[in-house]
Amino acid sequence: MTAYDDQNIFAKILRGEIPNVTVYEDDDTLCFMDIMPRTDGHCLVIPKTPCRNVLDASDAQLASVMSTVKKVANAAKTAFDADGITVQQFNETAGGQEVFHLHFHIHPRHDGVSMRPPGKMGDMEAIKAHAEKMRAAL
Ligand code: 5GP
Repeated sequence: MTAYDDQNIFAKILRGEIPNVTVYEDDDTLCFMDIMPRTDGHCLVIPKTPCRNVLDASDAQLASVMSTVKKVANAAKTAFDADGITVQQFNETAGGQEVFHLHFHIHPRHDGVSMRPPGKMGDMEAIKAHAEKMRAAL
């Protein structure tokens, strides 16, 4: 398996080299907003320690990340009065992964509403407002 590259964008976020809109953090995990949101409230949960994805993550990394996924998913459901939550996670290029630091996407979903297409920058003021709603629900 390819080695972890500490120049990936999420490693830079963890080192504070590039900004992020934080929803939640604890000793082991960080949740922040996706800058190309496919749903209102689209956010990402990552471990603070390095691993590429599920294939090389330790059981401890997975356990702490999933605990935060559950916490934030419930907050997102409340904050957006969502009917459901989609959790997405991709492994390696063939699996759809683009940033090679383990992350889980959290999407608040509403009945009959599709996710937006990928790859379009979001409005930063809207993203900040969505993060604030989730922080208030946590
Ligand atoms: P994946 O690797 O699971 O395919 O997707 C990576 C995700 O990271 C995408 O949803 C993309 O919008 C998001 N992303 C890429 N660059 C940045 C960035 O600089 N900051 C934030 N917050 N998200 C990013």
